[in-house]
Amino acid sequence: MGNTASQALSVMPVERKDGTYALRLCLHQGLLDRDMLQRVQEVMDAFQLNDLRATTGQRLNLEGVPADRLDAVIEMLGTRVAKCPPSISVCSGGAQCKLGQQETRAMANRLLVVLQCHAPYPFKVKSGISGCAEGCGLSFIRDLGLVGGAQGWMVLYGGSARHRAAPGLALAKGLGADEALELVARGLEFYKEHGGKKERLGIMVSRLGSDAVLAALA
Ligand code: SF4
Repeated sequence: MGNTASQALSVMPVERKDGTYALRLCLHQGLLDRDMLQRVQEVMDAFQLNDLRATTGQRLNLEGVPADRLDAVIEMLGTRVAKCPPSISVCSGGAQCKLGQQETRAMANRLLVVLQCHAPYPFKVKSGISGCAEGCGLSFIRDLGLVGGAQGWMVLYGGSARHRAAPGLALAKGLGADEALELVARGLEFYKEHGGKKERLGIMVSRLGSDAVLAALA
């Protein structure tokens, strides 16, 4: 049953209030290829599952899996069970979108490597990459944001879409890809050093103050 697509994909069970599970398909940059789409359809038919729901993090939740069918559903999907990689929202970017000023997909791949190299962190780190200042990749309100411009990348730090929603602090603009990722890496190390346990990056920035963070990183 296994194929390359299903073996590359991981799933993460998420328990729901009613005792069922959502199986989170940890898609890479929101992509579900034809083989995997077909496999998911077959599983949904076989187990009479009706809902496949998109998440804000560009993943898919296969909802309503009964607890006693979870293992069988995973086996038929042929996927690994693992925690999803760090969440990166990525827009179409300069390779596809007419407004795009920087290419985003390859940059997202590079950012994922940086995030995984420097882990673990005090709490989850969500990122967004957008090919222009329209910000379709949610860059302004993610813990880490990259926004493409004509001169290069802007790096945003500590954005939040939660109850004290605010855009991230702009650490720099007009950076090349390498420079932007080096700054992100320094920002991640700073978070590891100064962030409290389960303190999101934006809360840390508020606590320390923008001036102190800019003085350390910008
Ligand atoms: S952020 Fe810009 S490049 Fe990305 S999808 Fe939106 S308009 Fe296009």
